[in-house]
Amino acid sequence: MLKLENISKQYHSKVVLENINLEIESGEIVSLLGQSGSGKTTLLNIILGLTKMDNGRILFNDQDLTNVKMKDRGFNIVFQDYALFPHLTAYENIIYGLKNKRGSVSEAELQEYIDFLELKPHLQKKIGELSGGQKQRVALARTLVMKPKILLLDEPLSALDGVIKESIKERIKSIAKEFQLTTIIVTHDPEEALTLSDKILIIDQGNISQFGTPQEIIHHPKNEFVKEFILKQLQIKRQNIFQLFGEQYA
Ligand code: ADP
Repeated sequence: MLKLENISKQYHSKVVLENINLEIESGEIVSLLGQSGSGKTTLLNIILGLTKMDNGRILFNDQDLTNVKMKDRGFNIVFQDYALFPHLTAYENIIYGLKNKRGSVSEAELQEYIDFLELKPHLQKKIGELSGGQKQRVALARTLVMKPKILLLDEPLSALDGVIKESIKERIKSIAKEFQLTTIIVTHDPEEALTLSDKILIIDQGNISQFGTPQEIIHHPKNEFVKEFILKQLQIKRQNIFQLFGEQYA
């Protein structure tokens, strides 16, 4: 279990996160959902260990990670732009991080990840020869072979559209299930959060507006912000939500 206790952060005396408390169970997919500038990326980077918090504690399976460096936390992130090396092949990108971490993943496991993400036909291609969805799968494979204790994804669907977006969504769900991997996703899109996550943390200006399952948030929005923010977006995408959550939102 990942536990965040009273996490606060200011930049130049501007409060960006205020007393964030959160518990995430093993194998859960949790989205951090909010408008631009609400503090989602800052919270993701604090969990990763990239950004220092001002106050608070982070515990993972009862171990206090508050002062543990990023590289020693064992959490890995897929950045929004994938951050793949363009001069290397897909395969070279996937194994890149293993250079300094020999023995962490066996050859059989490596093949399992490649098969799972259906990357075999693309291994020898350069990054520029891959589609957006293929690049995202390479980025996921490169991260998974590091055997992260927690998978962090920053806007994983924002560069994708239509069918590809749906297929990556399903892929993320099956990774969390297959590998019992706790997954934390930053998104500004309520529909993505509602259809992808077990639980959603809605952040408004650095404060938790609501934390709950998609059903709880849809049927019992805790305050006006949640109602406005979620429902406005849902009205734009009526059809999908109608199928998912029933008539009253269509
Ligand atoms: P989100 O991911 O929800 O768009 P961020 O966490 O990136 O929001 O940013 C939250 C607030 O913190 C914004 O007002 C942003 O300008 C500010 N901020 C983020 N990173 C820095 C930084 N390194 N220095 C100063 N201000 C920052």
